[in-house]
Amino acid sequence: MKIYLDGKYYSERDAKISVFDHGLLYGDGVFEGIRAYHGRVFKLKEHIDRLFYSAKAILLEIPMSHAQLMEATVETCRKNKIRDGYIRLIVTRGAGSLGLSPKSCKRPSVIIIAGSIQLYPPELYAKGLSIVTVPTTRNLHSALNPAIKSLNYLNNILAKIEANNSGVEEAVMLNAEGFVAECTGDNLFIVKNGALSTPPLSAGALYGITRQTVIELAQEAGLNVSEPNLTRYDLFCADECFLTGTGAEIMPVIKIDGRVIGNGKPGAITRRLEEEYHALTKVSGETI
Ligand code: PMP
Repeated sequence: MKIYLDGKYYSERDAKISVFDHGLLYGDGVFEGIRAYHGRVFKLKEHIDRLFYSAKAILLEIPMSHAQLMEATVETCRKNKIRDGYIRLIVTRGAGSLGLSPKSCKRPSVIIIAGSIQLYPPELYAKGLSIVTVPTTRNLHSALNPAIKSLNYLNNILAKIEANNSGVEEAVMLNAEGFVAECTGDNLFIVKNGALSTPPLSAGALYGITRQTVIELAQEAGLNVSEPNLTRYDLFCADECFLTGTGAEIMPVIKIDGRVIGNGKPGAITRRLEEEYHALTKVSGETI
């Protein structure tokens, strides 16, 4: 594997950053997870735009332009002969002193890893996932805004551990008011009476690129999509539920906190959106 690091390519063994990098010391940095399908990088512009917005929010200046970063991402796929895969783009604050102020960090580091990911076992896509609500609530906007895709993912990791401790693969995270925010690495949708709902971004969710794609696909199919505040009751009484994310793609949910969703099987609208999503990945994206 050839890893892009600050303009050069290194083997996996030689791709190293400083132990003084504030990305490591403080989780100070931003990242993106992107997928390539059929020789194209899916929604690349959207991911690069979100990376720049995350960086802006933490006053981190990425030492490359949007166009340069897009080209470096595609080139890293070419160098690794990736046609279908998962790309991790990381910008760290860079090496500095042990104090937490980024003033001592001279230059951010840009890392691109083009590999693969399998978030959930394939049989779960067929059967659907059981999930639980966890005690750890999603970060407050006023503390660390969930819209920032930062290297500081402890909030999500704690929720993931709590879900795993309860014997399931994914967690529903509520916000401090008790409304549904999202899962640890995915956005959440429900279907009720043929219409889709997903929590508003103000409830404390990442501006998910898969979420947006699914909203557009649903609207094109003539389905109504709304973004109301959702409670656990709304999830329990939904006809269908599914998760969206670049890594997870579209994952049906069949049980939440012991309540069976709908008839306990992945729903028809979920299946239809899944098909349309996969069809879209075949015909759009930046050519590698
Ligand atoms: N929420 C969180 C917390 C995430 O980390 C992610 C990305 N893995 C998502 C939602 C889904 O976003 P996207 O569809 O852009 O991958």
